[in-house]
Amino acid sequence: DYLAAEIDIPRPSLAREKLLEEVRRKLETGQKGLNLVIIGHVDAGKSTLMGRLLYELGELDEKARRDNERGSERAGKASFKWAWALDESAEERERGVTMDIATTHIRTPSLLITLLDAPGHADFVPNMISGASQADAALLVVDASPNSFEAGFERAGQTREHLVLVRALGVSQLVIAVNKIDLAIDAESRYNEIVSTLSPFLVQSGFQLPRVAFVPLSGIEGINLIDKSSALPWYDGPTLLSALDALKPPARPYTLPLRLPLSNVFRGQTAMASGIGVSGRIASGVVQVGDRLRILPGDESAVVRLIEQDDDSAPWAAAGSTVTLYLAGVDQIHLDIGSVLCPPDAPVPLALAFTAQIIVFDLQLPLTQGASVELFHHSRDVPVTLSKLLATLDRATNAVVKRDPRVLTKGQSARVQITLRTGTISGPGERVAPVPLETFTVNKDMGRILLRRGGETVAAGIVTELLTLA
Ligand code: GDP
Repeated sequence: DYLAAEIDIPRPSLAREKLLEEVRRKLETGQKGLNLVIIGHVDAGKSTLMGRLLYELGELDEKARRDNERGSERAGKASFKWAWALDESAEERERGVTMDIATTHIRTPSLLITLLDAPGHADFVPNMISGASQADAALLVVDASPNSFEAGFERAGQTREHLVLVRALGVSQLVIAVNKIDLAIDAESRYNEIVSTLSPFLVQSGFQLPRVAFVPLSGIEGINLIDKSSALPWYDGPTLLSALDALKPPARPYTLPLRLPLSNVFRGQTAMASGIGVSGRIASGVVQVGDRLRILPGDESAVVRLIEQDDDSAPWAAAGSTVTLYLAGVDQIHLDIGSVLCPPDAPVPLALAFTAQIIVFDLQLPLTQGASVELFHHSRDVPVTLSKLLATLDRATNAVVKRDPRVLTKGQSARVQITLRTGTISGPGERVAPVPLETFTVNKDMGRILLRRGGETVAAGIVTELLTLA
């Protein structure tokens, strides 16, 4: 029945030059957007902090707060009353949606920040990763109460792993919420202790301290979130809000060709939003209602009937925006999570082999040359081979430590060559589809990768060179 939708296929209303001019004007005058991933050990207070911050900023209305409070009480967790109310994943899953990350916004004086949630439990790391792979900056929440920071920072804790992971994915801006400062016995010395424990680890992991802000605060008490607090007379740094406001928004590469990797594909239900719905964050370029787009990998194309952004329909949308498009002239079977929509005359390169700079996580078995792993890129899983281990690198400076290493072990940074395993996968004659990829330098969003083995993330990194194209 997708043919029925073709009766009212719209045409693009603005020529490219005009469109780019309008986008430029809007991006210059409008509030700058930034994607923030929230990371940290389980129970560090991430949900509570974000709930309280949203409430203080008026983003969470009183009713939502009360509903949330009631829900938490029913669940026997009254202390969770501030917990972030916006985890819609259960409901979304019922609708057949596969987004695992609840997103919402906070407005600082100069930024519109999209929050990418990151549940703290160890088995939620895959969700955190999908969030981190879209992040421009990270908010790390650590627990300043006695012994808790240490528990989250030791080897089994998630603090280190999360930091290493976001850095590996190219995130260099960091705000560190030194949370639950209300529980610290001597807040000032506890804060200083945490700063001096974390700093060397951050440098070792490739962060630059001038791009890191440490903010002592309490999510539950609302201390130092928006206004300076008399509870911390010794502290003269920024509040959480001003530290977030000082983050540098990323460039929005809207003049590059469109790249829209799909995080979701579904069937439109309402009369307006009928046809095939797809959503994702625009990595680069601009899309306009009426545009014909190529779907990669594959040979299909489709026309954009309707664009939805922030629950409103829009004539166009540009790089950095999360959008839902309703498409005409295509069958749902041609669209996959991980497919990339592009202009027909500027398709994204499809790689069969490439080099990447990766960081290896905590592993049982080291990674050897020739190892079979899965490449995870924009929600797409592809079987690959670690075809060459080129060099291990210094994590802070990227200088070569050792050429042609035999194996890679946990914590190492390395340059490797990755080759797609071609041949049969799901059936005879069916070949592995190449991956739509670009280098991190050309397109940040298209150049971040993860490697998994047996369902576990073993490495994360960025694409440095495309070697063989399909
Ligand atoms: P998450 O797992 O990181 O999302 O942590 P939660 O937000 O669920 O908080 C974990 C626990 O710490 C809950 O019992 C909260 O009530 C408590 N908590 C969170 N923030 C604070 C704080 O600033 N001070 C104190 N005293 N407790 C807090």
